[in-house]
Amino acid sequence: MLRAWQGFLLAGSVVAAAATFAAPAGREAAYALLCLAVVGAVVTGVRQHRPARPLGWWLLAAGMGCGAVAHSRWVLQQPATVLNAVVTWTDVVYFSMYLLVAAAVAALSASRRRGAALAGMTEAGIVACTAIVLAWVFLLDPLMNDRDDWSAGAAVLAYPFLDLLVLTMVVRLRFTTRALSRAQQFLVLAVAVVLAADVAYIVAVMAGGRWAGSAFSAAGWLMFLVLLGAAALHPSMAVEPRADESRLPGNGRWTMAGLLAVVLIGPAATSYALVQDIAEGELDVIDVFLPLGATAVTSVLLIARLTRASALARRRADDLQEAVEYQATLQREMSHLALHDPLTGLPNRLYLDRELRARAHHDDPGCLLLLDVDGFKHINESLGHPIGDALLVALGQRLRHTVGPDALLARLGGDEFAVLMPCGDAEAVDNRCADILAAVRRPADIHGHRLHVTISIGVRRPAAPAGGTDALSDADLALYEAKAAGRDRAVTYDAGLRERQVERTELIDRLRAALTTEQFTVYYQPIVTLSTGGFDAVEALVRWFPRPGELVGPDRFIPAAEDSGLIVALGERVLRQACRDAAGWHRQHGTAVTVNVSPRQLMEPGYAATVDRALRDSGLPPSALILEITEGMLVGAANRDDRTIAQLTALRRQGVRVAVDDFGTGYSSLAYLRDLPIDILKIDRSFLPADGSGAAERQLSFVRTIVDLAHNLGLAAVAEGVETPAQVAVLRELGCDKGQGYHFGRPIGAAETSEVLAAARLAAAFPVGA
Ligand code: C2E
Ligand code: CA
Ligand code: CA
Repeated sequence: MLRAWQGFLLAGSVVAAAATFAAPAGREAAYALLCLAVVGAVVTGVRQHRPARPLGWWLLAAGMGCGAVAHSRWVLQQPATVLNAVVTWTDVVYFSMYLLVAAAVAALSASRRRGAALAGMTEAGIVACTAIVLAWVFLLDPLMNDRDDWSAGAAVLAYPFLDLLVLTMVVRLRFTTRALSRAQQFLVLAVAVVLAADVAYIVAVMAGGRWAGSAFSAAGWLMFLVLLGAAALHPSMAVEPRADESRLPGNGRWTMAGLLAVVLIGPAATSYALVQDIAEGELDVIDVFLPLGATAVTSVLLIARLTRASALARRRADDLQEAVEYQATLQREMSHLALHDPLTGLPNRLYLDRELRARAHHDDPGCLLLLDVDGFKHINESLGHPIGDALLVALGQRLRHTVGPDALLARLGGDEFAVLMPCGDAEAVDNRCADILAAVRRPADIHGHRLHVTISIGVRRPAAPAGGTDALSDADLALYEAKAAGRDRAVTYDAGLRERQVERTELIDRLRAALTTEQFTVYYQPIVTLSTGGFDAVEALVRWFPRPGELVGPDRFIPAAEDSGLIVALGERVLRQACRDAAGWHRQHGTAVTVNVSPRQLMEPGYAATVDRALRDSGLPPSALILEITEGMLVGAANRDDRTIAQLTALRRQGVRVAVDDFGTGYSSLAYLRDLPIDILKIDRSFLPADGSGAAERQLSFVRTIVDLAHNLGLAAVAEGVETPAQVAVLRELGCDKGQGYHFGRPIGAAETSEVLAAARLAAAFPVGA
């Protein structure tokens, strides 16, 4: 199936071929017909392909309209056999066709930035001037010298200039457009054909040819119209021509060669003409001035063009320079961003890594401290991230101030900081750590909250023995150790830490395996009411028997179980066992049971429900269960809507009691005790005065204070680690409610506990000496 433009090309060519050899009147009719056909083609093309800027096409249609009118007039007038001496209206209409075609080509060139329209014009002008010289030297001058009747070709003389105009526009089109579309190519070809036809015609007419022109000219004019129609119908007529900005400076090798050739052609042709004219003795003034004038204009245009090109090149260079500077600034900002923490503005982990690597082979690679805020997650969760962030910024400033100018302080992310400082003697490092710990301990006022925080430090000295190749991971291990040892302290890395870490990992694996078998048992230790000597409660203490006969105490594995999260499952198992065992004791003897709870367990959202289930499944009433939590847990959770507190409060509402274990060992203020959901204080055994100890008096006053405090707050006081009758006597005197320790009994298995409880009841029923 033929496309519209192909059809036009084919049909038009057939018409052109036929008309070429027809009588003059027939030819004129063919011209008029084809002109109208082009108008039709433009209308169809614009309708179908909808160019964004159809102006050029409409100008072309208008030009073709003029062509049709002019040719129709000639058909009607009957063509003269000689040339008109005067310019008629029909001529004017016909010339308008050229003007409109030139305008159309101009309008169909690529649109460019403002002020750049001149660009193509200089090239076009240079080509035009050269063409003028050539036309003069080879066409007009020799021909007119032969003709004495100037007026004879008045109309014909206009053609070279009209042709030049069209040529100029085509050159401009070529110079300003990146790649010619197919439609534009047809356009250029059409113009080339019509120029050839016109040149042939002028030559023929000047030589006394016929008005209607030769068959060659006729064929050219006809094909001109056919090609224009094809251009208008081609789909690419709607393609917006792309400006060729890259060509603008125009110092490409081919452009320069072309311009050079054009510039040389003028003078060469002129010289040739002058030599000829002088030889023939026909040298006129105009023979000198016309080529000279054209050459002068060409030179001016060339200078304009080169000036423009260099100005453009300079502007581009400036743009480039600016871009390079901007890039450099951006680069600096990016690398700052990449190496600093946006929150605190401190150097980040990447920065520290680089610094560590850079200093690795120094004489003093530096001493690395890894810092981690204790319980920060808690603050973040209970008070919100904005306060957490503000706290980190405040801590960052404090640390910056404390570590001094010779140390690098970095924030590694989250609540982790690092200090890389010159390694003085061990004492200097210890002092710096002490300074940091003290600085962090000072309360921080953040958004109306007074926050008490502490920090733990892992120290890695470069002199650390083998095994410590990666300073950061060594410091991390030391930090871990500092956390495990109770936080708010500094621990220095040594190879032993690494060994212990390996042991701990192995221990965790063994613990995980142990949980799937029945290697855990619960032992019980009596808690005695000091005034009556009655066994009111027992504390459940977990025991691990990895192999029959081998017992591992909880101090060895509870920390690992807490770290690994295994404590949640283990704790539930102990709780359920304790409730089951205690249910019977409670029925028979009214004995309560106290169970140790790890912070990790209370952080589980379902912990209260777990306790509920254990109570219901065992039948132990809530009033017979006491949960022991540590002091640190409450300090961190001093917020009312904390999950830990919420669960304790819910459990207490059902009658479960809460005891604070190891009371007095935390560094907490006592104010919080008043607001927390607790019932019992267990005084840490380190406060009990050993018999005959010199510091006994001071120890005693401690115990007295705690007992009084407990009673003032309506809490019961339990003394731990009671080993001697003397201690019992003192505690009684101080008014301490209960005691627990080897003096009353060591932790024993459930069966034994049953016997002991039964015996104790017997003893109470039949007191010795009664
Ligand atoms: P704790 O809660 O302070 O338990 C008291 C510890 O002191 C027990 O050690 C007990 O055997 C020991 N003890 C009792 N009377 C005396 C005494 O007169 N003198 C001395 N020197 N020590 C005495 P145990 O059983 O080794 O437990 C150690 C710690 O392990 C416990 O300290 C507790 O914090 C933790 N723990 C034990 N069982 C569990 C458990 O089921 N869950 C959790 N989360 N922690 C547990
Ligand atoms: Ca305990
Ligand atoms: Ca304790």
